[in-house]
Amino acid sequence: MTDPRRRLPAVDALLAEPEVAALAVTGPRGLVVRAVRETIEAARANGGSAPPEGWSAAIRARVQRLAAPSLGPVINATGVVLHTNLGRAPLAAPALAALARVGLGYANLEYDLSRGTRGSRHGLCRDLLVELTGAEDAVVLNNAAGAVLVALSALARGGEAIVSRGELVEIGGAFRIPDIMARSGATLVEVGTTNRTHLKDYEGALTPASKLLLKVHQSNFQVTGFTAQVPAQEIATVGHARGVASLYDLGSGLLIDLAPWGLTGEPTVPQALASGMDAVAFSGDKLLGGPQAGILLGTRAAIEACRNDPLARAVRADKLTLAALEATLVLYREPERARREIPVLRMLTEDVAQIRQRAEALHKGVGTDADVVEGESEVGGGSFPGAQLKTWLVRVNPRPLTADTLVARLRASDPPVVARIGDDRVLLDPRTIFPDQVETVARAVRSALDG
Ligand SMILES: *Cc1c(COP(=O)(O)O)cnc(C)c1O
Repeated sequence: MTDPRRRLPAVDALLAEPEVAALAVTGPRGLVVRAVRETIEAARANGGSAPPEGWSAAIRARVQRLAAPSLGPVINATGVVLHTNLGRAPLAAPALAALARVGLGYANLEYDLSRGTRGSRHGLCRDLLVELTGAEDAVVLNNAAGAVLVALSALARGGEAIVSRGELVEIGGAFRIPDIMARSGATLVEVGTTNRTHLKDYEGALTPASKLLLKVHQSNFQVTGFTAQVPAQEIATVGHARGVASLYDLGSGLLIDLAPWGLTGEPTVPQALASGMDAVAFSGDKLLGGPQAGILLGTRAAIEACRNDPLARAVRADKLTLAALEATLVLYREPERARREIPVLRMLTEDVAQIRQRAEALHKGVGTDADVVEGESEVGGGSFPGAQLKTWLVRVNPRPLTADTLVARLRASDPPVVARIGDDRVLLDPRTIFPDQVETVARAVRSALDG
């Protein structure tokens, strides 16, 4: 018997098929040739049988897969508002408009329009940040990890930086304070213990080589029980008295107090500044709700040193970041508008009755063995650890599928839907499902269960 793999069609023969040839006319020919080769390879690996859907259909599907962008939108049905793996903060509409306005052509990124000379990108969001926070000065960098690195380099390079053992944290994505410290050229001096650090620990560690007192917000975990950390204000006071700089790695950039919505325990940016720390670092795409960015606020001297540090050039923000950040910050001039229009803040402060309505609508659309139950959403992104956000979940019975199969099918739908599993059921949290996505999610569940 001849090996069926020998009977596989040749690349040229498939390219000559009218349907395949048509693909090469409308799309990039190189991609079609690659799809033909890969389809033949797949058939060979499959024992030499032709694709069940036919050669042309298999090739067309593969061309589509190859042509699809690797980065695309997904629907977040997890209820984790700042989902790091799903791109953290969705942007507000004005931020999106700013991206288009600036990205489509040239921009005055480093150009002083009144003088017709070279300007500085560092001036762009500076005044707005100063206006909104009361800081003396501000600089925007690529992300908060970069901002902390720059601040450590600018304020502590060649000297010692003192930090509590309770704050030697790992943030995720391998951002560890001791490692960042080593790269910045500062020497780490650990004080206190994992659970308790006192002001006298900082004072006792000060030497002529001390350059910086560092406070790191315990953003993604909680220490409970017999614990003590020194408030930023006391650290700043010691720093000023002894002529040593102070830096507060705040993590999340919460600009408005969310306590009226039951979210407490996360220091706001104005509170952090009021503590008197020389510099405060935070992300643009956590609670601030803007694009990925690292923001440093503080005294004129501290921020000037950061801006002039060579590392600041290596982690500078690009024009798209600055455009989207400025448009996001502008919304904070009217805090209520910021709360309504910045998706992260809207989702975190949404009335649970409204979430329930969306859950009911989704439940109806799913139209299967499902119910609406109380549950909890998460803030995520290393913010408000342990905060409980009441929500209403649509709980879908995956039968006859398993929960794992159903969530895998939801991930494979277009656009992909990312959901959670709890007690062998698939859980959909409408807190992070936008109102205009409810019907899409319902349809995805129906076809995943049918398919
Ligand atoms: C998230 C976080 C960072 C890193 O911020 P990125 O914007 O991800 O670079 C640094 N420090 C703390 C305390 C954080 O929570």
